[in-house]
Amino acid sequence: MADLNILHADMDAFFSAVEQRENPELKGKAVIIGGVSLSNRGVVSTASYEARKFGVHSAMPIAQARKLCPDGIYLPARHGLYKESSREIFNILKKYTPLVEKLSIDEAFLDVKGCERLYGHPVEIAKKIKKEVKKKTELTISVGVSVNKFLAKLASDFDKPDGLTIIKKDDVKSFMYKLDIDKIWGVGNVFAAKLAEEGVYKAGDIWSYSLEELKDKFGKAGVKLFFLSRGMDNREVKSQSEIKSISHEETFIDNISDQDKLFAYLFKMSEKVSFRLHSNSLKGNTIFIKVRYSDFSTYSRQKSLKVAVNSSEEIYQIAKTLLNKDNLLKKPLRLLGVGVANLCSEGKEQLNLFADEDDHLDQTIDELKRKYGFDKISRARKLYLNNDD
Ligand SMILES: [Mg+2]
Repeated sequence: MADLNILHADMDAFFSAVEQRENPELKGKAVIIGGVSLSNRGVVSTASYEARKFGVHSAMPIAQARKLCPDGIYLPARHGLYKESSREIFNILKKYTPLVEKLSIDEAFLDVKGCERLYGHPVEIAKKIKKEVKKKTELTISVGVSVNKFLAKLASDFDKPDGLTIIKKDDVKSFMYKLDIDKIWGVGNVFAAKLAEEGVYKAGDIWSYSLEELKDKFGKAGVKLFFLSRGMDNREVKSQSEIKSISHEETFIDNISDQDKLFAYLFKMSEKVSFRLHSNSLKGNTIFIKVRYSDFSTYSRQKSLKVAVNSSEEIYQIAKTLLNKDNLLKKPLRLLGVGVANLCSEGKEQLNLFADEDDHLDQTIDELKRKYGFDKISRARKLYLNNDD
């Protein structure tokens, strides 16, 4: 049944490629883009393919990159410039289908079902996108074409840079069988190490486990692994306008009364919400929280603002005020949640003159989380929580 309708399009070493385009002298050289500042305490946000040969990669401390690649060209990020190119690229993507789900400044899913008559077979559409991006922006984009989001994303990553990889339904089994387990969405270093103890190194090694076994061993993550290791993923491509609110909530194994711990959870969840807002280029005017006590009684509170927000710090601070206001933390919590509603596209909201610096910090952190998994990149406040919290 499944057709090749899902595309994942991902720019190649986007920030450094833009810098190389702006200054042709940088072409063919090891170019490393840091955060807004280039201090040695910062991290690499993008390394050109030439720099990657030295072992430099995103999320690596600048100090370490300088040791590996002392002759590299280190540049501060110019987000305004990258945003301009990003806009051009998304205008191209949106020509082929209204179903474009933005994952970040340089990456999106497309559902091209029903677009054949206008633009041809999905593989033809992928080729057209690649050609047009190259022509209009002088940059290369890798595209994966497959039957679902998970496989399309694996496909776009398969032959970077300037790749075009198709994973047909009939090829899923052989493709997944030999795929390294840490390529599976949600399998970070810690989980991969646990799986290695079980003798699991490739996706195919999971197939002999039943769904129940994986659920018992690894909980929700095990269930996900069961399906993804078989290349199964039923998530739909969602365009921005379909998203009404973004929230995150957690049910605790044991009820929690320690306020510091609850605020640490709140911050972690605010970061997740902020990350998803940024990924979709959204901001929101309403912040809401939800609490549930051991007797299952549930309360929520919300606050609407004049200015739309999406930074983790702003979300956290407002949520914290909401929790404190009616003394909602007076009893142990079974569940805590935070979210943002009343969403609008970034750029269309009212201007917030003071948000700029914090925005860039969030942007860099978001970029890294997207690439390296959420829990590897965390801010100091979260250290209060254990790793598996
Ligand atoms: Mg990219």
